[in-house]
This record gives sequence, structure tokens and C-alpha cells, in this order.
Amino acid sequence: MIPTQFEYKRASSLDDAIALLQASKGDGKLLAGGHSLVPLMKLRLSEPGVLIDIARIPMLSGISEKDGKVEVGATTTHHAVATSELLQRLCPVLSDAAGEIGDPQVRNRGTLGGSLAHSDPAADYPAVILALNAEVHLKGPGGWRAVKGDDFFQAMFTVDMAEDEVIVGVQVVPQKVAGYAKLHQKASHYAIVGVCAVLDVAGGTINSARVAVTGASSHAQRLTEVENALAGKPLNQATIDAAAALAGATLEDVNADIHASAAYRKAMVKVFTRRALEKAASRA
Ligand SMILES: Cc1cc2nc3c(=O)[nH]c(=O)nc-3n(C[C@H](O)[C@H](O)[C@H](O)COP(=O)(O)OP(=O)(O)OC[C@H]3O[C@@H](n4cnc5c(N)ncnc54)[C@H](O)[C@@H]3O)c2cc1C
Repeated sequence: MIPTQFEYKRASSLDDAIALLQASKGDGKLLAGGHSLVPLMKLRLSEPGVLIDIARIPMLSGISEKDGKVEVGATTTHHAVATSELLQRLCPVLSDAAGEIGDPQVRNRGTLGGSLAHSDPAADYPAVILALNAEVHLKGPGGWRAVKGDDFFQAMFTVDMAEDEVIVGVQVVPQKVAGYAKLHQKASHYAIVGVCAVLDVAGGTINSARVAVTGASSHAQRLTEVENALAGKPLNQATIDAAAALAGATLEDVNADIHASAAYRKAMVKVFTRRALEKAASRA
């Protein structure tokens, strides 16, 4: 289908983008990679009057290390995240997940910020952001703020972001003992179930764990039953198997669609939790 008519404006800076959003009075939408927004416009599920292109604002793109933390700009493409030497060294699970998104075309156009703002229930990054306890940085007319992943993802396609705010980037504390495992939908590669596990291990014992799932329900969620079962236990296969067997117990709104029934998804949450934990353990 053909989208409804819209104006196109290219923002020259972050503040320009915020000003253009404000001026549009709720009728404007930011355009980053366009890989979620444009399909929605073609289906007329989204009909913005103004598209504000932020893809070429230099300060919004790139991956850097600052004060022991890694910062990834909002318009950094999935490909850049997947192939970043810095991330592969300091926080490889973020690169792993990015490398599993869609196909080369999607990875070369789609962006981290666009994925987080759109918050598709089957998107990969949200589980990783939750498990890494990462911060999403936003800027709006009222200034700058940071939101933890736990508070950012609120419901299906719903995040803690005002309509005149822009995601500036994401900040993560480097964590190497982490794994992402995904059962992908064959055509699009979206997650039927995707699990990210991050372990804090010392002397062979798991001090604490953060485990999150995407694809299984309305939005990415922590698997606290798994996290609790891992804390304080030795890192071995028996611990992983016992914890993974509990995965999904607290999930209430399990998705069911043409790709997988709720019962199948629930079964896969356990399988992919075990695989994510095994990947994390292999990095310990
Ligand atoms: C064929 C296909 C397969 C795909 N497979 C996968 C997959 O396997 N896994 C996966 O996770 N995703 C998948 N995607 C989605 C893809 O990752 C998109 O790139 C992503 O969801 C949106 O990023 P974008 O940069 O294209 O955003 P856009 O489409 O440009 O924007 C999406 C939304 O976010 C808003 N937005 C964009 N940037 C910002 C910002 N900085 N601040 C605030 N709001 C912003 C826009 O206004 C819009 O509402 C797939 C997409 C396609 C077309």
C-alpha cells in the first residue's frame, strides 16, 4: 500500500530534532532506519504528518568507552553493533544479539534507538538491555534523563518516552559472562523466543544473575524465577538445568500466533534459557 501524504524534514542536530518534534504538535515521527516505521506507514497503521529524519546527526551514532562504561549512540546500525571490536571485547552479548537481527539489509539500515523506541514484542535488543541492566538515555525539551531498562519497557509497543523526546543512546557496564540464545521466525528472523543471560561469577559461584526473555509475551521481561534459582549456586550444568526448568513460570500473557502456540513458546522459553545460560557459562 501507499502511505498517506507526509512532509519530510532532515534534522541537523539533536536539538533541531527536538524542536521539530515540538513544532509538529504530536503529528511528527522520527525516522531512523525506517525498517519498522515505513512498513507501518505503508499499512496506514501509522500516519504521521511530518517525518523528521535523524539518521545523519553525527553525535547520535557511534560506539565509545567512557569512564569504564560503553555508550552506543541511538542511530548506530545493528551491523555496526554486531561488528564493533570494542563491544565484542567488552560486552560481546550485545554484538551477538545485533548479529541475529533480520538480514543484512535490515542490519545495515535498522538502528538501536529505533528498535528500542518501537519496542516490538519480538525484537532482540530489549531482552539484552534488561539483562545487562543498561540505561537508555533520552533528551527532550525538559532536558536529559536516563531510564533503566527495567522501567523503560512498559507494555506492548509502549516505553517510557514522551512524544517530544529522542533516544540519544544506551549506556552499559561491560559484562563478558553473558549469552543470548534465540529461536527465530524463519522469514523475518524476529524472535519467537529470545533469552539473554548475564552472570556475575566469582570463584566458580554465581553471585547474581539477570535473565530476560523477548518474544514470549507483550514485552521483554525478566525471568526472576531463573535469577533466584541461580544466585549463590556453583556454576555447573546441574545448576543451569535446574534453573532453566523453572523458566517461564512467572510469565502470564504468553503470546500465541501463526508462528507458535503459547504452549510451544513456554516450552521454548526453558530450552532457550538453558542455551543462553550455557553460552554465558562458556565465557566465565
Ligand atoms: C524484514 C525485517 C526483519 C526484521 N527482523 C528483526 C529481528 O530479527 N529482530 C529485531 O529485533 N528486529 C527486526 N526487525 C526490525 C528492525 O530491527 C528495525 O530496524 C527496528 O525495529 C527499528 O529501527 P529503525 O532504525 O529502522 O527505526 P524506524 O523504523 O526509523 O523507527 C521506528 C520507531 O522508532 C522511533 N524512533 C526511531 N529512532 C528514534 C530515536 N532515536 N528516539 C526516539 N524514537 C525513535 C520512530 O519514530 C518510529 O516510531 C526487522 C525488520 C524488518 C523490516
